[in-house]
Amino acid sequence: MKTAKIPNLRFEHFFRFEEVTDFVSRLASARPGLVVLDSLGNSREGRALHMLTITDRRTGAAADKPAYLIHGNIHAAELSGTHAALFTARQLVLDHPRSGLLRRAAFHIVPRINPDGAEFVVTTSGMVRSRTDRSEREPNTLYQADVNGDGLILTMRQPHPDGPFAADPKDRRLLVRRTKDSKPPFYRTLPEGLIHDWDGSDEIRVEGRGFDWNRNWSYDWRPEPEQGGAGDFPFSEPEMRALAEFMHGRPNLFGVLGYHTGPAAVLRPPSTGSDNDLNEGDVRVMQELAEFGAKYTGFPVVPVVKYHRKNARDINLRGHFHNFGYHHLGLFVFEFELGMLHNSAGISTERLFGVKDEPEYEALARRMMKWWDRQKKRDNIFEPWKPFSHPQLGRVEIGGLLRRHMAGPTLRDLKRIARGTYAFTLEHASRHPWVQIEELAVDRVGAGLYRVRARVANRGHFPTHISNKGKALRRLRAVRVALELAEGVELLSRQGHVSAGHLAGLTGSRTLEWFLRAPENRRALGAIRVHGGTGGNVRAAMSAP
Ligand SMILES: [Zn+2]
Repeated sequence: MKTAKIPNLRFEHFFRFEEVTDFVSRLASARPGLVVLDSLGNSREGRALHMLTITDRRTGAAADKPAYLIHGNIHAAELSGTHAALFTARQLVLDHPRSGLLRRAAFHIVPRINPDGAEFVVTTSGMVRSRTDRSEREPNTLYQADVNGDGLILTMRQPHPDGPFAADPKDRRLLVRRTKDSKPPFYRTLPEGLIHDWDGSDEIRVEGRGFDWNRNWSYDWRPEPEQGGAGDFPFSEPEMRALAEFMHGRPNLFGVLGYHTGPAAVLRPPSTGSDNDLNEGDVRVMQELAEFGAKYTGFPVVPVVKYHRKNARDINLRGHFHNFGYHHLGLFVFEFELGMLHNSAGISTERLFGVKDEPEYEALARRMMKWWDRQKKRDNIFEPWKPFSHPQLGRVEIGGLLRRHMAGPTLRDLKRIARGTYAFTLEHASRHPWVQIEELAVDRVGAGLYRVRARVANRGHFPTHISNKGKALRRLRAVRVALELAEGVELLSRQGHVSAGHLAGLTGSRTLEWFLRAPENRRALGAIRVHGGTGGNVRAAMSAP
């Protein structure tokens, strides 16, 4: 069914919310037999949490097929995730029916799970991790605002005797850490904005309480300040709660991928502790899968706990999505860090993480600016410092690097990267469990007496419990078989319902047998219905021979 043209996805600028809405709506109306646009709910500011469900509906509903979830842009400035997710959505549609995957599996794609934060960053380039709580304005606290009216929220710098920065003598656009050898003027910096209820002192806080929605998940959640950004309680953030409820409501979910930006990497669990806290076999599978991501993107594979500068300690991220996905859902969860502008400038993740001190990092910033100067087609990543008379602070200069462009690779690079992450998703998703009814046979064994036999099998790659962790989790439901008998058909076996347990990948099966009594000349005896959990649901009609 072809009704409209599949929309182009241009990698030219980051999308505002209405552009995301326009793209997902047009993709859905172009292929209504494949794509359905839903919403997981609304954001705090009332924007829809768009979700595309993509599957060939002629071969079954999404809820009856193994399903793969992709989300992007939890972190407001990580806008590249939205484009990468939309790329996969569009490519799945373009590659159908050649790939065949949409006949067997379903995809749920949430390109922008944080539309409010993203809108703030797209439109102002201001600074927000996930959400900034401005409900209670605190005294002596700076709240971001476009005070000079140029449409952007940049950095304010002001000469100050205690200023921790100086202009970089090698690139006057940049600021560097003040050292004993630095020459004045020394600058203090603040985000562009206004100070609420200021007492005129130097003790100026930057707006108030930051939230990190990738610390708001329920596994090993810890309150602030133990875990920065955690929020008030697990799933206190409606957007995260909507996503978690969706995930828990879908027993057919077998794989999850999230898009972020930071030094380019394929991230895998664990997000606390070490590999030793996970099942050994599971670690092996996760590593193998992640290596596909590395192969298709050129990114290194990094367990979340190791995603840090080389000379730092391992990190422990409490309430993190990876641990939730593995420990609560029993799934193999991955995140792509799609890169940052440094990566586009040819500075590798290994190099970025190998940085020992601030001067070395500043040298990389200069290298990035030199690279940027050489680009013919380029985003505006830097605004020159311009004097401004601030209503509270007096003379300041406003300018500096645009955060929204620093946070990800160039859009041109992103297009190539998104192709690689799509290839990874195909590899991961093609391993879905796949529950089937085979060798269904109905034999007449007497007058009005029938024996029904069938084999219930998993012919997909993953076992129905996906991971070894998943074996014991109640969330990953074992395979259940039920008989639906036509009217007048009577079950002679002790029970029609069978719990078949979990089925191994490719070779896992169970042969089942029932005896029925039916009126003579009755053809339709009913159906066998299998609830296959991650392997999908399947039904087969039973007919008298
Ligand atoms: Zn992120």
